[in-house]
Amino acid sequence: MKIVFCDRDGVINRDSADYIKNWSEFEFLPGSLEALALLKSAGFQVIVVTNQSIIGRGMATPEILADTHARMSEAVRKAGGEILDILHCPHVPEDGCPCRKPRPGMLLAARDRHGIDLSRAVMIGDSVKDMDAASRAGLGQAFLVRTGNGGAAPASARKKGVRVDRVFDDLLAAARFLVKGDG
Ligand SMILES: [Mg+2]
Ligand SMILES: [Zn+2]
Repeated sequence: MKIVFCDRDGVINRDSADYIKNWSEFEFLPGSLEALALLKSAGFQVIVVTNQSIIGRGMATPEILADTHARMSEAVRKAGGEILDILHCPHVPEDGCPCRKPRPGMLLAARDRHGIDLSRAVMIGDSVKDMDAASRAGLGQAFLVRTGNGGAAPASARKKGVRVDRVFDDLLAAARFLVKGDG
């Protein structure tokens, strides 16, 4: 099983400083639907792992988030892709939960749920937190994309000593690399 863990905001969809609180604010980034379809066609399975403190902040209910994710998954399916699972952290940083990235809790939970060999899995994210969570969970590779927060992230990761294996312009470029590299 070839697993790609994928952050949501800033990788699949456009991020916002005001958060993405519901489906009307959700906008796929250019190429992301194509990227997810490409990954599926090459036998990769995609699991989304996303910090969603909008719930802990009272800006959205779990039901609204579930609705957003159902619609996202349906749009991905219609475009030929597939999201195997979506794990989210509903907490705020002050909660000190084990699941909010950069902590590895969601990756470990996905491992237990799906029997994943994390050492062969890949993380694609737009922030240092994604890369840090990947390292802490022992993922095989951590790819940073320049969309979302990703413009400043490579320098920030270097400064913080967080491992980044490769940097791509966007999810589609990362997907093309994975598909080509895997043959
Ligand atoms: Mg992000
Ligand atoms: Zn959490």
